[in-house]
Amino acid sequence: MTTVMLSVSEALARVLADFHPLDSEIVAAESAVGRVLADSVRASINLPPFPNSSMDGYAVQATDVAAATAGAPVTLSVIGDIPAGISPTVEVRSGTAARIMTGAQMPPGADAVIPVESTDDSGMMMGAKGQMPSAVQILKAVEVGAFVRIVGEDVKTGDEVLAAGALLRPYDLGVLAALGVGRVPVISRPRVAILSTGDELVDIDQTPGAGQIRNVNGYTLAALIHKYGGEPISLGVARDTFEEVHQRLLAAVEQKVDAIISSAGVSVGAYDVVKLAVEREGALNFWKVNMRPGKPLVYGRVRDIPFFGLPGNPVSAIVGFEIFVRPALLKLGGRRRLEKPVVKARLAEALHSDGRESYLRAVVVHENGGYTARSAGGQGSNIVSALAHSNAFIIVPAGVTEVHAGSTLSAWMLDWPEEIF
Ligand code: AMP
Ligand code: MG
Repeated sequence: MTTVMLSVSEALARVLADFHPLDSEIVAAESAVGRVLADSVRASINLPPFPNSSMDGYAVQATDVAAATAGAPVTLSVIGDIPAGISPTVEVRSGTAARIMTGAQMPPGADAVIPVESTDDSGMMMGAKGQMPSAVQILKAVEVGAFVRIVGEDVKTGDEVLAAGALLRPYDLGVLAALGVGRVPVISRPRVAILSTGDELVDIDQTPGAGQIRNVNGYTLAALIHKYGGEPISLGVARDTFEEVHQRLLAAVEQKVDAIISSAGVSVGAYDVVKLAVEREGALNFWKVNMRPGKPLVYGRVRDIPFFGLPGNPVSAIVGFEIFVRPALLKLGGRRRLEKPVVKARLAEALHSDGRESYLRAVVVHENGGYTARSAGGQGSNIVSALAHSNAFIIVPAGVTEVHAGSTLSAWMLDWPEEIF
């Protein structure tokens, strides 16, 4: 165990060294959005699978209509009608045409499609199904292949359409559906136990008695686990006794979770028993980080399960989570990009810090071609309302105590979709 205070980056490097992507599981394509593909997806068919028309019109031989103009139309006899969804039974020969709809399979013999707008067939142009004419006048020439979608122009059999490690997006479902890939292998969701500790805590629907408060961290941390692709498993609230905390940690071990998070009980108060309980079942790696808020932050393991002992103050717990737990969860979930989306923001007001690496709750807006940051309210680590009003953490580097208005700092954007960065 390290008793010296680590920098944020040293501490994070120690954490990430312990995490590796989980195994995969097979899920339905429609529930795979937001998950990471465990294997690449290859096409077992061509797309399109058959040549088809990209317009409503007439399938023809292009040479027949090479001289067609509005002033001197070419007349072809109509030998059949090909709606979408059938296999054509007619063959187009010189002097003939087959009426064809968008998406319908090209008939043998035809090598181009004349859009209905380039014919005298006004019935179809009006959108009515209409009687099929016995002849059609073609008003415009086309090249061979015009308005024909060819086999494999989109995807060829054997092509890799999605790579292993890709984060599946709604846009990717289209190609999976087209290829008939209804089930895909994805990296399993990390299962993360949350233990809230504190004699003072009551649940959200209880009325706090004298000296009591509601359990905030149990809610915010579960929601964050969910946000980053994990499955939160509540261990409830443990009172500030070694026995109770120890017993809940063993319950987490029994559930074979991928990580354990606790809140509170990790500073130097008389009732701060979390470190002792962790040491009994495993080991501490570090317990102090040079950051604000959230200096007392424990990392270690319970048996062989990684353990994060976050501070009790709600803002500190969230900041500690975003810095350390979030990238660990993303790594477990197979994500490659672990950094938070970050922008450079110009400060609208001066800031003070105490020399620790500070994560201040801020509102960042885009204005005048750049980003501007303002404090979101009280910066005390107990001020939950400022979290609700913020959309960013602005980061004052370690060693800096005064930041002037107009200077530029990095801002972690809280609500930006992570996958595009
Ligand atoms: P501790 O780390 O136990 O000294 O707690 C630090 C501060 O966080 C105290 O004011 C606690 O009351 C508060 N706190 C601890 N756990 C929670 C929680 N789950 N929800 C809200 N506040 C908490
Ligand atoms: Mg406490």
